[in-house]
Amino acid sequence: MPDLLFRSDDSRYGLCLTEECIQRILELCSRSGGRETGGVLIGHYTESLDMAVVTTATEPPPDSKSGKNWFSRGVRGLNARLDEHWQHHQFYLGEWHLHPRDVPDPSPTDEARMGRIANLDAYECATPVLLIVGGDPEDEWLLGAYAFPAGEQRVHLRAWK
Ligand SMILES: [Zn+2]
Repeated sequence: MPDLLFRSDDSRYGLCLTEECIQRILELCSRSGGRETGGVLIGHYTESLDMAVVTTATEPPPDSKSGKNWFSRGVRGLNARLDEHWQHHQFYLGEWHLHPRDVPDPSPTDEARMGRIANLDAYECATPVLLIVGGDPEDEWLLGAYAFPAGEQRVHLRAWK
């Protein structure tokens, strides 16, 4: 599987996922026992600042909670982890999570959470991205990618070849 690219129609926002990250995410999803799971996306922006390049997808922090169709990402250990990446010029870029056997579209809760992150100084990320894995992570999986510019409507990032 090559790296996957997603872009907004106006090319202002993009997301690049390395093969390693996708494999890692799918592996975590298939271990979730039919419940939602998720984590944080870490990486950097390209020089033109229009593409977030994800180099690390984390597992759910240990204080995360989830059910069949909800996920609350915990925070334990996350700051230390982000500080460590920071030293290697890799930053918080956004979130990923699984919608088991469902469509990879953001729920109203997802929207609200991402909006909050965009406006939170703690993350220093004005346009967080959200990657949703839908379908069956072990078979026919689907990816939905979205950017959430602070104070603006969410932007759909389409798969780009
Ligand atoms: Zn969701």
